[in-house]
Amino acid sequence: MVAAAATMATAAPPLCAPRALARPRRGSVRCAVVSDATEAPAAPGARLSADCVVVGGGISGLCTAQALATRHGVSDVLVTEARARPGGNITTVERPDEGYLWEEGPNSFQPSDPVLTMAVDSGLKDDLVFGDPNAPRFVLWEGKLRPVPSKPADLPFFDLMSIPGKLRAGLGALGIRPPPPGREESVEEFVRRNLGAEVFERLIEPFCSGVYAGDPSKLSMKAAFGKVWRLEEAGGSIIGGTIKTIQERGKNPKPERDPRLPKPKGQTVASFRKGLAMLPNAITSRLGSKVKLSWKLTSITKSDSKGYVLVYETPEGIVSVQAKSVIMTIPSYVASDILRPLSGDAADALSRFYYPPVAAVTVSYPMNAIRKECLIDGELQGFGQLHPRSQGVETLGTIYSSSLFPNRAPAGRVLLLNYIGGATNTGIVSKSESELVEAVDRDLRKMLINPRAVDPLVLGVRVWPQAIPQFLVGHLDLLDAAKSALNLGGYDGLFLGGNYVAGVALGRCVEGAYESASQISEFLTKYAYK
Ligand SMILES: Cc1cc2nc3c(=O)[nH]c(=O)nc-3n(C[C@H](O)[C@H](O)[C@H](O)COP(=O)(O)OP(=O)(O)OC[C@H]3O[C@@H](n4cnc5c(N)ncnc54)[C@H](O)[C@@H]3O)c2cc1C
Repeated sequence: MVAAAATMATAAPPLCAPRALARPRRGSVRCAVVSDATEAPAAPGARLSADCVVVGGGISGLCTAQALATRHGVSDVLVTEARARPGGNITTVERPDEGYLWEEGPNSFQPSDPVLTMAVDSGLKDDLVFGDPNAPRFVLWEGKLRPVPSKPADLPFFDLMSIPGKLRAGLGALGIRPPPPGREESVEEFVRRNLGAEVFERLIEPFCSGVYAGDPSKLSMKAAFGKVWRLEEAGGSIIGGTIKTIQERGKNPKPERDPRLPKPKGQTVASFRKGLAMLPNAITSRLGSKVKLSWKLTSITKSDSKGYVLVYETPEGIVSVQAKSVIMTIPSYVASDILRPLSGDAADALSRFYYPPVAAVTVSYPMNAIRKECLIDGELQGFGQLHPRSQGVETLGTIYSSSLFPNRAPAGRVLLLNYIGGATNTGIVSKSESELVEAVDRDLRKMLINPRAVDPLVLGVRVWPQAIPQFLVGHLDLLDAAKSALNLGGYDGLFLGGNYVAGVALGRCVEGAYESASQISEFLTKYAYK
């Protein structure tokens, strides 16, 4: 892990703090953040120019650059990334000699067509791996891991909810429930009103932990789960909206699906053979010298001629770049500082998005450490488990990494990725790595691991001090305020992107990248730049 920490050393601010292992193993251990990026250095004092500069080499920035090239013929692009590796939050780590491969940021994505297109365009079609759509997902309730229904036909039979709870949910979904209050509702308010207390407490509250590490009493239903929010808006109830959506889909059939895309067999999640880092690494290789690593943007000004001048700290010294258009895909709190000299109003709005801390704690146990009642055919099967905050467990949830995707752990071992912290437990930042491991191990022994099992092998403890932007009530208004302030200031050609704009799921970041690329291309065409 010392090697991994060194690989992560960067000129960037500590967006992510890798920590030493709580209980390092004896002997030499090869362990590396998966990155194969190389680049040519910029000439000292160089002044470069580009049609578009993408600031931030996370998934949003890299996909924007790739979409500009593949969809819009805009290839005069520079992607500038403060860290020494591409991928942003995506952090795949490997101990190849021992057969472990794990994720310390996001663990998987929903294989929507935009992400699959990006993967196929990046040459990764044969590297895609999909979780088994029939594998169960569990929620901890009253001391027991209970499967979550994976399709509507399962609804009457699962034991996570009571019969009155299911009836309340069914009637509410049909529209027999209090009307909307006429103001923006939190996730908790919307779900309790539409589907009742049990759906909220046993399904949606832990789901909010799983997606946002968030507090559902503060997250906005409209901003955080817009697709479900729109159902009630469009159809007067959740079921009414679903029927309307299906009818509209029938009237406007989808364009034919790209025949190159693999078809996932059901509702599942996906990754790549060698982990999520394969995607940013593949895009970086394709873009070649257009990706500048260890380039930290320090300022941006509007130039006298059309466009912008961006100033970077780089390993070769200060470098400035003249750009016709710019997209910032960096976290909003970094964008806020950089944009303040241009627009105080935009900076103020951007400074108000909240990113709580999350820690990813990766541990491995022998298979015989798993409780018998949690094994199916002698194996740990499933996607993983979520823990409602009411159940006396600090860990937010646990991904069964070695069950989900192949080749993540050696035979006879299970690999578990645990997330802890989030908006309702920000105190994790002051805990030591061994305290975090102890908290996770203590929790797992309450329901999944035999209380007398051996200590886990600790593979990684990574604390993300500002992990995931929260789409709180008022989020969309703040975003509009930031964009309007830039427009009013005359900063055309300066775009905001990234997860606080598009949505936090990797799939939404990719969709957002396609949308941003269209807007940038349109801008360049409008001003006859292309
Ligand atoms: C612990 C954790 C678990 C998650 N789990 C999942 C999951 O399982 N599935 C899922 O779909 N999503 C998950 N997410 C969310 C998802 O990972 C993120 O929303 C997504 O990766 C964000 O990508 P991005 O490119 O928008 O931003 P980032 O990944 O944050 O990229 C922004 C980049 O900007 C760079 N940068 C910052 N400042 C500067 C500067 N001054 N100059 C140049 N560059 C700069 C940063 O170094 C960074 O590389 C998770 C997130 C976290 C933190």
